Amino acid sequence: MAPQRVQVAVVGLGALGSAALWRLAARGIDVVGFEQFGIGHALGSSHGQTRLFREACLEHPGLAPMAAESRSLFRRLEEASGRDLLKITGGYMVGSADSDVVAGTARAADDHGLPYERLDREALTGRLPHFADLAPDARGLFDPGCGVIHPEATVTAAVTEAARLGAAVHADTRVESLDAGTAGVRLTAGGHDYLAETVIIAAGAWLPPFVPDVDLVPIRTPLHWFAPAAPAGESGGSPGFDAGHFPVVVHQIDPETVLWGHGSVDGGLVKLGIGDIWGERPPRIDPDTLDRGVDSSAWRRLSALVERVLPGLDPVPARVEPCMITLSPDDQFVIGPTAASPRVLVAGGDSGHAFKHCLAIGEILARDVAGEPQPYALDFVRPSRFGV
Ligand SMILES: Cc1cc2nc3c(=O)[nH]c(=O)nc-3n(C[C@H](O)[C@H](O)[C@H](O)COP(=O)(O)OP(=O)(O)OC[C@H]3O[C@@H](n4cnc5c(N)ncnc54)[C@H](O)[C@@H]3O)c2cc1C
Repeated sequence: MAPQRVQVAVVGLGALGSAALWRLAARGIDVVGFEQFGIGHALGSSHGQTRLFREACLEHPGLAPMAAESRSLFRRLEEASGRDLLKITGGYMVGSADSDVVAGTARAADDHGLPYERLDREALTGRLPHFADLAPDARGLFDPGCGVIHPEATVTAAVTEAARLGAAVHADTRVESLDAGTAGVRLTAGGHDYLAETVIIAAGAWLPPFVPDVDLVPIRTPLHWFAPAAPAGESGGSPGFDAGHFPVVVHQIDPETVLWGHGSVDGGLVKLGIGDIWGERPPRIDPDTLDRGVDSSAWRRLSALVERVLPGLDPVPARVEPCMITLSPDDQFVIGPTAASPRVLVAGGDSGHAFKHCLAIGEILARDVAGEPQPYALDFVRPSRFGV
């Protein structure tokens, strides 16, 4: 049987693929999306109820315009879907004045004219009495643009909206083979053959075999939630750990250790993690055989840190879930055409900070496919920066 012809096929409908599907469908492009699991599943990199949003991105000075575009697309997707996806809470960056977190955020905000407030140690302690053992040289920066995103709801809303606009969606359908030729890219999925003019591979931790020239490394990164040791306001109890009192925080405790998280958004638990950007890199995993069990070895370091710096929380996590991120060699994303063929675009190498940008990345890919100009510099995320 002749293969079914499509303009664009998207492989993987997680954060980046669902956004690409939505933005392509919004242009009236004939697009089909394949997801090996259910939509909004918990087996990739985009589950766990929340992700942090920041616009003054300390990871790279070029990320702020991407975050700004994403923020406005979040509002459009909220409007279209009728769901709350991004809640702006404001956030505190904590560390010494010259730390990556404080100085890097101030630099990104200054470069892009974003507002922030500097806090000395006393002001910081007044705003965040939750923190114990603050270094004598600790300083704070309040970033009013920080917030909390709901990842599963975002992915589901993007896919639903794409389908409403005409995209074909195949959940529980793994793309088994992909072959780029001059006539197009042949794809096999769910026992059917497709011939696509362009393919976008947004396969998350499954992406590395599709980009062999770039050293993408999927790693296991569990998500952790903690309960207050005592209800707020009780004698000897903790200060409030709801997101109103304890919003987004990124606390650089020493050059190697960054604690990130946010207070409860639903009257429940506090989410915390240790930044992996500066720390030791965990081993490469295979997403198909990932150990999805959790034991205390996963949270020992985080527990010890919580006990020391957030004594109002029970240091043993109340909930832990495995998750994955995919590191790129320079901790920036990999978005655009590959060496394999100009018809094959990739989107991945999330390096643990792509969710906030996902809707803009979908828009960038849609502009690539439609041949539209990009409104901001993207060299630092293009695969070509690795010489491929
Ligand atoms: C613990 C943790 C904390 C994080 N915190 C933040 C944060 O605070 N802020 C932030 O911005 N980012 C954060 N991130 C990063 C963010 O979650 C990721 O960047 C983002 O989810 C990556 O999305 P993705 O689309 O690349 O991967 P995924 O969402 O995993 O999507 C890839 C999809 O492709 C599918 N797939 C793979 N192969 C195939 C195939 N052959 N056929 C069909 N489907 C296929 C998979 O099933 C999957 O659904 C965090 C990540 C982790 C793990």
